[in-house]
Amino acid sequence: MRKNIVAGNWKMNKTLQEGIVLAKELNEMLVAEKPNCDVVICTPFIHLASVASIIDASVLGLGAENCADKVSGAYTGEVSAEMVASTGAQYVILGHSERRAYYHETVEILEEKVKLALANNLQPIFCIGEVEAERDANKQNEVVAAQLASVFSLSAEDFSKVILAYEPVWAIGTGKTATPEQAQEIHAYIRSLVADKYGAEVADNTSILYGGSCKPSNAKELFANPDVDGGLIGGAALKASDFKGIIDAFKV
Ligand code: PEP
Repeated sequence: MRKNIVAGNWKMNKTLQEGIVLAKELNEMLVAEKPNCDVVICTPFIHLASVASIIDASVLGLGAENCADKVSGAYTGEVSAEMVASTGAQYVILGHSERRAYYHETVEILEEKVKLALANNLQPIFCIGEVEAERDANKQNEVVAAQLASVFSLSAEDFSKVILAYEPVWAIGTGKTATPEQAQEIHAYIRSLVADKYGAEVADNTSILYGGSCKPSNAKELFANPDVDGGLIGGAALKASDFKGIIDAFKV
């Protein structure tokens, strides 16, 4: 069966010292009270090695927020998937809407990044989602279908290592959350696309997270949907108590 996952995306927040404090606080909370889902924090590159050395991997996973689309070499300022993996990280967020919008990451570039992540044993958390004008024009299904091309060239074996995150761009950092019905409808559609491509078993085993202004107050009703397998959390991942509140949505 697919896993329930709550993953935090710290974005470009926290100094190294602040990040270590946050990771320690969260780690202590999760060691004291084991979560009922997988929990991952995705941090800026500079935090990875330090955070890896202080967290208990049995309760808290670690990921990067991006990696390069090249193996190695003369790409000043870039960080390769191999380098990310060498820190002890196990995950990498790819295709976040901020990377697509501000850094012009295309379907083809993201396909390269996904392949390099998998070649280095990193599990991609692959983000898809429409902007507000596309939702207003009822084009969300065709948008996410086109974005999935980056991962639909993978073999079934490789695809089964990918975690999908549906993140409507109009809900990211806006306080405007998708309704549970909107989330369920498009998550079910995304799962149907996976089933068409890789078959029902792979689709059933694929974790599809919701992201976009998810908070302790709305996580439970979002995650209660049969096709919503957890969340990718931005703002609320920056405070241990808020992030723990979202993790607790899986408490029985
Ligand atoms: C995100 O950027 O992945 C995200 C979901 O952000 P927020 O939770 O702040 O909307």
